[in-house]
Amino acid sequence: MKIQSVRGMNDVLPVDAAAWQHVYAVAAQVFAAYGYGELRLPVVERTELFKRAVGEVTDVVEKEMYSFEDRGGENLSLRPELTAGVVRAGIEHGLLFNQQQRVWCTGPVFRYERPQAGRYRQFHQLDVEAFGIPTPDVDVEIIAIAAQLWRRLGMSGFTLELNSLGTPASRAVHRAALVEYLSLHEAALDDDSKRRLGTNPLRVLDSKVPATQAIVANAPQLLDHLDAVSLAHFAAVRQGLDDLGIPYVINPRLVRGLDYYTHTVFEWTTTQLGAQSAVCAGGRYDGLVQQLGGPQTTGIGFGLGIERLIALMALQNVPVADNRPHIYFCRFGAAAERDAMKLAEQLRIDMPQLRLVLNAGGGGLKSQLKRADASGARYALILGDEETAARCVQVKSLRGEGEPNQCPWSELAAQLSARLAL
Ligand code: ATP
Ligand code: MG
Repeated sequence: MKIQSVRGMNDVLPVDAAAWQHVYAVAAQVFAAYGYGELRLPVVERTELFKRAVGEVTDVVEKEMYSFEDRGGENLSLRPELTAGVVRAGIEHGLLFNQQQRVWCTGPVFRYERPQAGRYRQFHQLDVEAFGIPTPDVDVEIIAIAAQLWRRLGMSGFTLELNSLGTPASRAVHRAALVEYLSLHEAALDDDSKRRLGTNPLRVLDSKVPATQAIVANAPQLLDHLDAVSLAHFAAVRQGLDDLGIPYVINPRLVRGLDYYTHTVFEWTTTQLGAQSAVCAGGRYDGLVQQLGGPQTTGIGFGLGIERLIALMALQNVPVADNRPHIYFCRFGAAAERDAMKLAEQLRIDMPQLRLVLNAGGGGLKSQLKRADASGARYALILGDEETAARCVQVKSLRGEGEPNQCPWSELAAQLSARLAL
């Protein structure tokens, strides 16, 4: 049997890795620009963590988790998202007691979904979270971080959808009205929604089943049930976004199902990726830390899908940092081969930015130049026994940049720096 990758889990080949490296580099720079520190976490956590943090009645926990018992009998899961682990680590290391924390995290996450374009079983997220700041200014900051990331990546065309879930008290009032309304239409709801009516009625609002959506269209809206505190928080978030010139649309049906979500929820969507329109989703979860056994402290953050972001970058022709070699070093003959090895090593010492491929495995001039061309390098260096005797090397552009010349070894680094502007 031929062994292949697991369905829905993708390899990233070197030609495609440039875009990934670019996203990570720009994201790390943006997060640092706001004072967020990186947290690196295990991929595997106790299943109980996700049951409590993501919620037992969510699709993710009910149907999508990769859960297993390890050899010691522990119930573990591959993480289906990053926030739960961030909060777990924050509590465990005492980072959330009576203080503010700004952190980010990245890595693979796993969900047993039906694979399709933009929906995979292993995918990658960038996650940003701020703890211990109850005021709406940090809601604005979290949203601005995503906007700054789009700006620095050179991307456009996102819609920022915004809603408020309000305080737990105003949600309770809305919940009662919602359950009453949905109960009147229960017969027409899909089976999942019928079940959620008893467990997690808010989640019915973001059902993707058309018949349910038709009923939901006239359901009581959260925004009509916000109390004064919730309204003030929401107004301040909108004011902050207006001040920064970040446009948004209010989507009253944007929800998070669980009780510890409060106030702001948002999603960055695009029309360019078909059905998989959400690139980044987030919100405030003021009850989560306590729910997981930590202190009463607030939290807000977002999760961003890197595969969808990269697909969108390709559609928008976003330029990514070039990772092709600058130089391909061709070498012939025993003495020249040894000198070339030493010269290549010295160039890498003298020019830390240089990307240089040294020909290996022999080959004639024609085949080495063919490899040089295929590598994407801008210049070939050519060293044969004649050049070695004269202690020089031939520098030849592969892309029509300037004339070839014989360069003395002692001047090589200087000449290449000039030619490559390194
Ligand atoms: P969707 O409605 O598309 O299923 P979600 O609400 O499940 O998204 P979140 O849990 O909020 O998504 O995850 C944050 C982001 O991760 C999403 O906005 C999306 O960009 C990305 N994402 C979610 N599921 C997948 C997946 N299976 N494959 C690739 N990216 C995904
Ligand atoms: Mg999903």
